Amino acid sequence: MEKIAIYPGSFDPITIGHLDIIKRSAKLFDKVIIVVMSNYRKVNSTTFSVEERTELIKRCTADIPNVEVDSYMGLLAEYAKKKNAAAIVKGLRAVSDFEDEFQQALTNKKLNSELETVFMAANAEHMFLSSSMIKQVCQLGGDVSPFIPAEISVDIIKKLQSIGSSKDD
Ligand code: ADP
Repeated sequence: MEKIAIYPGSFDPITIGHLDIIKRSAKLFDKVIIVVMSNYRKVNSTTFSVEERTELIKRCTADIPNVEVDSYMGLLAEYAKKKNAAAIVKGLRAVSDFEDEFQQALTNKKLNSELETVFMAANAEHMFLSSSMIKQVCQLGGDVSPFIPAEISVDIIKKLQSIGSSKDD
């Protein structure tokens, strides 16, 4: 049976840290579904719309054949069941990510006992990288192009500069 993994997140916007997790997951699983969660904690506070985030991810993952991009509003455990997914993939940057991720993993396991959560250690060079950091640095006039996928960097920077983003991750 095809081993499907789901990689959920806000991706507001996608960074090279996210892309690294996506590429590494695509080597481990037959298929990886990246899911932009539209009700995910930060409801109504994202800088990029669900459609924009989905489209940006599609553009920078187009060359990875076993990756799909989707968006979802609802329970991740239900979505995973619907897609016959074996695992949820999460990237871990630091101990600070752990507590919340561990709680989510245990909750998802209760809701769907067939579902495993796989934690992937962030690349050491991406430990500091977050969507909110990119928004803050760009707002203060810094060059964020090294931190975002090249195919989409112009569009991301244009949008962040146009709104003078002050919104949080
Ligand atoms: P969330 O709203 O869950 O924080 P994010 O879009 O910030 O969504 O992150 C989605 C996933 O990617 C999470 O599992 C997060 O830990 C992981 N992640 C975020 N930034 C990085 C990075 N620089 N390196 C590796 N994993 C990351």
